[in-house]
Amino acid sequence: MATKVLVVGAVQGQLAKAFQKISKLHSKTDFAFALVTGGLFSQEADDDVQALLSGSTTVPLPTYFTVADHALPQPVQEKLEAAGEVCPNLFYLGRKGTLTTTEGIKIVFLGGRQVQNEESMTQSIGKYDPLFLDNEARVLSGANNAHIILTNQWPARIENDSSISLPEGIEPSTSSVAVANLCATLKPRYQFSSSPTASWKREPFVWPMEYSENAETQVTRFESLGSINLKTSEWISAFTLDLTKPAASEGAQRAAPFTVTTPRSKRKRDALDSDPYRNQRYDTSTTDSYRPGGRGRNNKRPKYDPNDCFMCLGKPQFSANMVISIAEESFLTSLRGPLPTDTTFPTLKSTGNLMIIPMYHAADETAHGRRSPPELQTEFNEMTRYRHALQHMLLDKAKGELGAVCWEVNRTGIRHFHWQWVACPQTMIGKGLVEAAFKIAAEKNEYEKFRPCEPDKLLSERQSDFFRVWIWSAVPSTTSTTNGSHTNGNGTSNPSPPPTTTSPLAQADALAAGQDEKSTTPPNTTETSMYFELPPDQRFNIQFGRTVLSSLLKLEHRADWRSVPAGDGDEARDAEAWKEDFGDWDFAMG
Ligand SMILES: [Zn+2]
Repeated sequence: MATKVLVVGAVQGQLAKAFQKISKLHSKTDFAFALVTGGLFSQEADDDVQALLSGSTTVPLPTYFTVADHALPQPVQEKLEAAGEVCPNLFYLGRKGTLTTTEGIKIVFLGGRQVQNEESMTQSIGKYDPLFLDNEARVLSGANNAHIILTNQWPARIENDSSISLPEGIEPSTSSVAVANLCATLKPRYQFSSSPTASWKREPFVWPMEYSENAETQVTRFESLGSINLKTSEWISAFTLDLTKPAASEGAQRAAPFTVTTPRSKRKRDALDSDPYRNQRYDTSTTDSYRPGGRGRNNKRPKYDPNDCFMCLGKPQFSANMVISIAEESFLTSLRGPLPTDTTFPTLKSTGNLMIIPMYHAADETAHGRRSPPELQTEFNEMTRYRHALQHMLLDKAKGELGAVCWEVNRTGIRHFHWQWVACPQTMIGKGLVEAAFKIAAEKNEYEKFRPCEPDKLLSERQSDFFRVWIWSAVPSTTSTTNGSHTNGNGTSNPSPPPTTTSPLAQADALAAGQDEKSTTPPNTTETSMYFELPPDQRFNIQFGRTVLSSLLKLEHRADWRSVPAGDGDEARDAEAWKEDFGDWDFAMG
């Protein structure tokens, strides 16, 4: 699963020496590929170049390079035009672009130096020229993400907030704001640049958490490699990349050196704005001359706090105006970029989409150890009570035309667990389409098989990672099996199973709390639940639940919350609409 990658600095035409060294390293450690971040060639087409082109210098593993400070030598350009490669295993990436390796590693690269005075340019840039335009860097931001960024030039202000001083000979003023913007937009795990006079590696840094379901910490490691004339450790570096795990956060104590927390109103404009220039919101200037969006917030960089969380009540990133209801253990909020719109379900005033969020900040479990089973049970019981209360509300509002789907991703690394809940036409639930869609999607993604479970029971697999879904049918299911479903037969027409089929613990708790029948699944309706485990090395799309629902509800264009057009105060308005919808059933606020 883990891929070993070799990174090489400025070889400056000393090709025989470089590939000898690389061969030696590669024979000891089996690297998947090598990346050259500095200039591979000198300006001269000397013997080293001839030896490479003729095949007498061996390139031992797939090696990718781009252009640095000089155009590629003429014979190399000619060979590339004729053969597409310099020699076996040596590939020119081009000046700019994206490469996804066979290991699935996504590399965004940008060679050359930024053109300083674009207006004065008289001819276009050739594909071997050591130059790039501001706009070319911006277009690369459209890649949305990258595991590795490879640039010749440094990101502007990358040295900020680092306690590792810059070696002599490195001139930060030659760095590029466009490259910094690229880094801030793509948030790579690694970024490599070139500085022939000396190498420099800064402390890993953490990006402020943006509102998203993917609550994994994003960490970037930056390193600039020196030239082959320095000692080996300055021009060669290596690392291991494991895409099945989030970026390692060890040693990442610092905030990103060039990011600012985006004000919410601005973020909404960004959401509306699909153009790739959105990365302009990052102010990376060291002077007042560059103020994207007309803002200069240089002095307001937040420090990284591992407890930052937009799902923790009362924390600075939490938006209180999204709250619908607050109980003892958990609360309800509206969503930023909800899947349905407020007109998708005409019988509801709200969007019909919300989150049930426990108070407990999951990252605390890493710090303070696992919670005891009774603690987990109490929390689960209350969240279940919300789920049931929402069913009662739907039954009353939609008169059986709406069921509901709720899902949970329980994965190590998520800072704050939560359930997402969305109404869904009963016709789809009744026909078994929802259940089938989840099963098919899981199979397509090569996830583990769904297994049935008791809807009102905490999974004993709570100790490991899993994805769980609850499907509530507003009418009794005729096809449901007793395993993994729970028809509440409390009504007159259906004599089978009494509500005591819920977990005894939950039942006892409900009794102790003096809860009424609204604390259980409504009479004559059916809820099923199923889950699959997430093995530690399983790649998993954290948006899985939402993706499945988006195709069922024909809302594919809203599958990614970031692509949902938003207006100012939308989530606050939805929270208000939710209070109107849910108020009469809200056991906590009623
Ligand atoms: Zn939290």
